Amino acid sequence: MRYAIGMDLGGSSAKLGLVSEQAAVLGREIVATPESGDPLLVLQPFAEAVDRLGALAHARGLQVAAIGCGVPGYLDPSRTVVDKNNIAALDGFAISPWLQQRFRLPVAVDNDACAAAIAEAASTGSDRHERVLSVTVGSGIGVVLVVGGDVARIMHGVTGDAAHIIVDHASRERCPLGCRGCLETVASARAIARLGQRAAESGASPLLAARLRNLGSVTGLHVSEAAAQGDPAALQIIRQAGYWLGVGLASWAPIYEPDLVLLGGAVAQAGDEWLAAATAAMRDVGYPFFVDRIEVRRSTLGNDAGMVGAALLALRQTRPPGRCHAAG
Ligand SMILES: [Zn+2]
Repeated sequence: MRYAIGMDLGGSSAKLGLVSEQAAVLGREIVATPESGDPLLVLQPFAEAVDRLGALAHARGLQVAAIGCGVPGYLDPSRTVVDKNNIAALDGFAISPWLQQRFRLPVAVDNDACAAAIAEAASTGSDRHERVLSVTVGSGIGVVLVVGGDVARIMHGVTGDAAHIIVDHASRERCPLGCRGCLETVASARAIARLGQRAAESGASPLLAARLRNLGSVTGLHVSEAAAQGDPAALQIIRQAGYWLGVGLASWAPIYEPDLVLLGGAVAQAGDEWLAAATAAMRDVGYPFFVDRIEVRRSTLGNDAGMVGAALLALRQTRPPGRCHAAG
């Protein structure tokens, strides 16, 4: 059995884990992301956490073969330098050589969503699904296509920014990136929170109105909770967000041709009504040849996906000779 340390860097915290090649997590650390403009100061506490996980491996008689790192942004084509990133201090920083030098081990660096998608696709434990579309629905929406275990890289080293397809062109809502009526404006946690706030202000949802009075604002989670308690207005918002996601899935189907869609992120916990609405809308509006054979499921790894995927990527890149491996 081979082992790697996976790092999943985020704007507010990093998750790190000692991971086996069968994706078992043997130890984990969560470290707050320092607020600094200096990349070395930002990376220092993460590196110390890697050291602790390395000591844990050593104490158990295990050898760490590689380090994998997921970053919240794009990388240059060689995947060594951070290009455009949620941790501003790392913009333009050559992270791969720094990690190699610091730990004296082979290193793999990738976009965090790509790393998470690789882990989620691997976690299905089945060769039945050749083309897996991993869709993470949180305050934004991430879309990554995994084909035969590897990310389909179409632009900036990722599958694309497919959450910004325009689905509601008559809408006046714009997403933070500037497009009007894109999927993020109608299906993300931000969209659910916006509609929940309106339902609270208008009194359409007494439960959300109470949240607004007590807490001053309404989040997507509040809307999910109100829907779970049977609040009709909240339930309608959740169903509507699911419907729009289904429109997105139907639109992606003839482009990506997935046979499995894995839905993750905070909104995916919104309940079975949301999942049912998304699946029904996809089958209703989509091209039957593509959508009829797509299986839609929730993803299973949750917050571990990024660090597990980073570790698996690192292990794949350092596979010993004589074992079958894909190029790239
Ligand atoms: Zn957009």
